[in-house]
Amino acid sequence: MDAVLTFLGTGTSMGVPTLGCECGVCTSTDPRNRRLRPSVLVQWNGPDPVRNRTVVIDTGPDFREQALQTRLKHIDAVLYTHPHADHIMGLDDLRPLSFASFRAGGPIPLYAAPQTAEVLERVFDYHFSADSTYATRARVRIAPLADRVRVHETEFICVPVRHGEMDIAGFRFGDAAYLTDVSDIPESSFELLQNLETLVLPSLRHQPHPSHATVKQAVEWAQRIGARQTWLTHIAHELGHEETNRMLPPGIALAYDGLKVAVNL
Ligand SMILES: [Zn+2]
Ligand SMILES: [Zn+2]
Repeated sequence: MDAVLTFLGTGTSMGVPTLGCECGVCTSTDPRNRRLRPSVLVQWNGPDPVRNRTVVIDTGPDFREQALQTRLKHIDAVLYTHPHADHIMGLDDLRPLSFASFRAGGPIPLYAAPQTAEVLERVFDYHFSADSTYATRARVRIAPLADRVRVHETEFICVPVRHGEMDIAGFRFGDAAYLTDVSDIPESSFELLQNLETLVLPSLRHQPHPSHATVKQAVEWAQRIGARQTWLTHIAHELGHEETNRMLPPGIALAYDGLKVAVNL
């Protein structure tokens, strides 16, 4: 089944440009050096009557702007990788989209591991607490993130990875996989990443960071996994688009906001 993977944001937690910074990347006129917080859409057509299906992975602080730019009209599910601010703070902006979904069939499921669900319930208690009286709260429900999550016709396979001290989730769907915020990939997860056409890996910058991969580390993983094309995301302002791409091996490149990639589910 044909699907499209859209990069809503490819920036690190602070975004690029980074506030207050006047470096060459932050002041660049290349639109590919403007990176919103990391998120992707996976979209495909459902069966008759043909209806567009949309799954969002992470709703960061830029979610509203990203949804406007992609003219997002409905969401079938959200998958959360982990509960850091750059991946969850846009949850409140699910509200307007959730009202129509609720009328059509029920609240939007938000798939989250226990540690993520706990943070979502605490930060957004005005949506989730049983005695919330907030009339326009999001019509969403937290659903447990199992090893495999089915959204209509499509199965999303959870790919566990390490993010500093945390165990977080990546996702495989069809011949593609999306991993963000990775400092280590367990051996058992490499087995879930075989025979990929499209692989997304994070690559923060060249200098080491305790909870993020460097460009060198991401390239080593990409070459081991051997997807036909690897796209790098969660990119800091140390990496200019053109100059970084020039030094990357064939089949590996920086992604950019708005990039669309064909995927086979
Ligand atoms: Zn992040
Ligand atoms: Zn900068």
